[in-house]
Amino acid sequence: MSRFTDKIAVVTGAAQGIGAATAHRLAEEGAAIAVVDLSADRAQATVDAITARGGKARAYGCDVSDYGAVEATFEQIVADFGTLHILVNNAGITRDNLFFKMPKSDWDTVLAVNLTSAYNCSQVAQRYLTRQRYGKIVSLSSRSALGNRGQANYAAAKAGIQGLTATLAIELGPFNINVNAVAPGYIATPMTAATAERVGSDAEEHQRLAAERTPLRRVGQPEEVASVVAFLASEDASYVSGQTLYINGGAR
Ligand code: NAP
Repeated sequence: MSRFTDKIAVVTGAAQGIGAATAHRLAEEGAAIAVVDLSADRAQATVDAITARGGKARAYGCDVSDYGAVEATFEQIVADFGTLHILVNNAGITRDNLFFKMPKSDWDTVLAVNLTSAYNCSQVAQRYLTRQRYGKIVSLSSRSALGNRGQANYAAAKAGIQGLTATLAIELGPFNINVNAVAPGYIATPMTAATAERVGSDAEEHQRLAAERTPLRRVGQPEEVASVVAFLASEDASYVSGQTLYINGGAR
């Protein structure tokens, strides 16, 4: 089944983790992928893996928290591919700390990379999507949006993604643009491995403890987020908009 034949997808933060898995999934189903990450060199590894499997992709280096850089990158993507149809706002970072000692700079950086980036990319993308009266925007929220100790900055940004998603669905719906979000729980990626290291644990032990707290008794894999992003970006979800879908192994 090729749900994305002739579709152009932009996936941010796609050098590794959930973004790379999403780029692979969309490419496997026929989309051409603009692989965006901070460094074009690191994005190139995802591009090489996609093209080795017969897919189509190009690498772009862009700090998605910088509006000017996003504008220039999307202009280049449209020059290279002709247009874009799907935007996956995936780039994200954590700077965890208890609130009373959270530096303002970490608050600002996390909000900029996790939330303002989605404003930047979605606003620039909608110029093209509204013109063609077709588009899909899927953004990465998180279970942490419901509150998570040590993540006031990240939780606020990811809750912001849910509000942005609900509002863009209202404003862009008349242009045949679906806007949705996914909110993963614990997914085994370099991000959660770095969290484990920061708290003095190894990745395996950290995952084991997370699995114990999860009804399905395991952590998630990037491909299990990518498949849901692909669903929301496809015509299988053509009447779904403004939603945030939790992908967290049954945890409440
Ligand atoms: P990851 O492994 O850390 O990958 C994130 C990617 O985004 C990295 O390649 C990173 O590049 C890139 N990036 C960071 N800042 C950027 C910027 N300003 N501009 C462009 N690219 C940038 O993270 P992940 O675990 O796959 O997470 C992907 C998304 O899912 C994030 O939004 C995250 O918050 C969300 N999420 C993850 C989990 C989880 O458990 N893993 C759970 C819920 C939500 P560098 O490596 O060069 O910094």
